Formats: sequence, C-alpha cells, structure tokens
Amino acid sequence: MEKLVVGNLKMNILSPLEREQYFKLFKKELAGKKLSRTSIVLCPPAIHLEAFKKLKSKKVFLGVQNMFWERNGSYTGEISPDMVRNFGAEWVILGHSERRRYFGENDEEIGLKVMAALKTGLRPLLCVGEKEKQGNGSATIMSQLKNCLKEVGAARIENVVICYEPVWAISANNPDHLPTTDGVMSARILIKRFLVEKYSAKTADKVKIIYGGSVDSKNAKNICVDSGMDGALVGRESLAPYEFIKIAEIINQ
Ligand code: PEP
Repeated sequence: MEKLVVGNLKMNILSPLEREQYFKLFKKELAGKKLSRTSIVLCPPAIHLEAFKKLKSKKVFLGVQNMFWERNGSYTGEISPDMVRNFGAEWVILGHSERRRYFGENDEEIGLKVMAALKTGLRPLLCVGEKEKQGNGSATIMSQLKNCLKEVGAARIENVVICYEPVWAISANNPDHLPTTDGVMSARILIKRFLVEKYSAKTADKVKIIYGGSVDSKNAKNICVDSGMDGALVGRESLAPYEFIKIAEIINQ
C-alpha cells in the first residue's frame, strides 16, 4: 500500500515572503529524493492554497485543514468543499483535536463534513484519538469512528484515511508524552477491527491508517513504521522541510 506523509502547517507561514522561503527550502530538500512508495500531502492555511500549487507533482498533493459541509451560501468565514477542490486540493483534514478544542466541533458536524468531502471528490483525513494518556482511549476512538463514519458506506470508505492522533501526544516537547510502538499498534488494531466489523476484511485492508502526534525524524521509525502504520500526520516538523522530507524518507523505507 502506498504510504502517506501529511504536513499540517496549521496557522503558520505569515506572509508571501515567508511562503517563498518555505517553497525554496521544500524544493531543495525534495530534489533528487526517491519516494518510490510514498505520497506527500501538504495542508497549508487555505489562504495559501493557490500559491502552493507550485509545489504539486506526482508525489506532492495539497489539502486543507478544515472546511464547511455546505456548498455555498451565507456562512461568513467558511470555505466549501467545492472551493477546496476547485482551488487545487484533493485532501481535507477533518476532526482535528484543535478544531474540537478551540472551535467546539463535534462528531456529528465532523460526520457531515466527511460526507460532504466524499461527495465532492475530496479525500478526508479523519483524526481520532483520546484526550488523556491514562483513561479509556479505546472507547473514545470507537465512538468517534462510529459517529463520524455513520453515513459512510462501503463504496466510499476506501477514500477516507484514518489518522490516530492521541491528543496528549500532539506538539509535546516531552518524550514521556509519546506513545510506544505497541500502543500505536494497539490503536491500529482497534481501528482495523472497527472497519472489519462495519465493512468487511477486504474493504478494511484498503483503508490507510496513519499516526500523528510529535512525529520527528528520530521517532518516525518506531512510532510510524514499526507499529505498522501507513504513514504520518506531521505538525511542527512540517514547517522545517529538511526534517519533513527526512520523515518521508524514513516512512518510505
Ligand atoms: C497535529 O497537530 O496534527 C500534529 C501532528 O502536530 P505535531 O506533529 O506538532 O504534534
């Protein structure tokens, strides 16, 4: 299965000048790298989407970090699935814990967004994960999957990528706040089991499951490769093309 390395640039890159610097570094780091079985998805703030088309290639795709479920209308401040697709993106991150935490998004709304993305031909990257390190993580993950994928049938689930992001591990500067390889593997098995039960073993095999939360070039092998994940969602380190491409090379191995 083709691996996937997604860069969530969050609310960074503050000016056209900074963007140009990012492009320069990104192109330099990617040049000559053979990512034979890995695709990269860059998710900049939507305002940069059109400019980021410059980086698109057979290996580099674009996504956004959120969108609304309606196609158009009086929804001040929102962007629609059609806009996302027509401005050059194929992917959309949905259900990120920062959207849940700061903007009060819930499973029902995320489910509507997942369906809107799929109907528009976008590929949703659905984030699920428990808040606390200690606690019943499995129950949270299962209920998020159940609610957010409620309307998604077998014909469409292949286009969804599930991202396991333990919230406590996101942007942590502390090695104690990293899950173990076994912990990530267990989450993968749990997600897989959900997919097998809701769809079928054959369909579940076609759905990518990736890991997100403090991935860097030192831990990528342990938490993303050895755990059997199909790739990584990378926040902080995606702002540093040198590190980000290094992670992609590790995942590609
Ligand atoms: C994220 O927020 O999706 C993420 C993976 O961030 P970080 O890599 O900084 O933990």
